[in-house]
Amino acid sequence: MKIPVIKSSMPNYDEYIEEIKDLWDSRWLTNMGAKHNKLINELKAYLKIDNIDLVTNGHMALELSLECLDLKGEVITTPFTFVSTTNSIVRKGCIPVFCDINEDDFTIDVNKIEELITDKTVAIMPVHVYGNICDVEKIDEIAKKHNLKVIYDAAHAFGEEYKGKGIMNYGDSSCMSFHATKVFHTIEGGAIAFRDESFGKKLNQLKDFGIKDEEITDMIGTNAKMHEFSAAMGLCNLKHIDEFIVKRKILCDHYRERLNNVKGIKLSPIQKDVKANYAYFPVFFDEVFSVNRDNVKKHLEENNVLTRKYFYPAINELDSYKNKYPQNTPIAAKLSRQVLTLPLYTDLTLEEVDYICDKILELY
Ligand SMILES: *Cc1c(COP(=O)(O)O)cnc(C)c1O
Repeated sequence: MKIPVIKSSMPNYDEYIEEIKDLWDSRWLTNMGAKHNKLINELKAYLKIDNIDLVTNGHMALELSLECLDLKGEVITTPFTFVSTTNSIVRKGCIPVFCDINEDDFTIDVNKIEELITDKTVAIMPVHVYGNICDVEKIDEIAKKHNLKVIYDAAHAFGEEYKGKGIMNYGDSSCMSFHATKVFHTIEGGAIAFRDESFGKKLNQLKDFGIKDEEITDMIGTNAKMHEFSAAMGLCNLKHIDEFIVKRKILCDHYRERLNNVKGIKLSPIQKDVKANYAYFPVFFDEVFSVNRDNVKKHLEENNVLTRKYFYPAINELDSYKNKYPQNTPIAAKLSRQVLTLPLYTDLTLEEVDYICDKILELY
């Protein structure tokens, strides 16, 4: 039996069946149905935010955010992310400008943003990577000073808080992914938390072809509506989310205990003032005693443990982006060559974590 890198969390079978039963009576399967609307209300409470709307996936959340804010020009972002972040910028007709990340928590280096701002810069798209919270206060300050919009790729940050405030409250919008592999999921799905009412009105129309009412369609929209079976999965998973996160914490604490203070191994930081969600367990291998990331991955694979080089290559090293856009990101390049994310999911056991750590440590 192989240990996978991720397994989706799920409610009990009976719970989900119970939740979808009334869809056979109502026959209302999509288009802002009762479950869609109920999930919006429950998410507002759980995430401590005022404004949120649901969409089909995290990628559409990013594309629709750029569209709702009517952005055209340069968007400062990082290459240490999932390709969706950068794709959304290019697909919406903007130019990605790659800013380096900081060595400590892998989020955008706020000291390097201002030197990248030009008269074409319209926004910053930072990523709360692995659930590590960006320096939201400094980013706010820079955005205000230069009159820029901020769209957070918050795909990894579901349920997190900074100084007691829901993390989705920062920026003009925060984009969530509810993909099956994420901490909270709706099978496929996503959401946008946003600041302004006007953003919400536009989003509401854009996610439904641009239709305003029965007779008026005054925008050229897309189709990004979350359907009822997804919303039902969300309602069920939300009942268990705290329990899922506690399980993840116990697993992460155990990994940390076993791998802390090993020469050549760097772990993700525990951030101050942050209520974490334990989304991923990335480990960075600096080559010592000829142990490096690639031979750790190989050794684990030979012992039936699957891992992922998440994120490698850095986005600006992918064929689709190489040498096309402004970039000077040596730290992202270095860390992407060191990183390996270890298995982490709610069904993983402490014994399996021990086994994985034993296999890593026997290389040293
Ligand atoms: C998962 C993810 C996305 C895309 O979300 P989907 O729901 O899969 O479309 C975007 N950005 C990051 C950082 C992600 O991890």
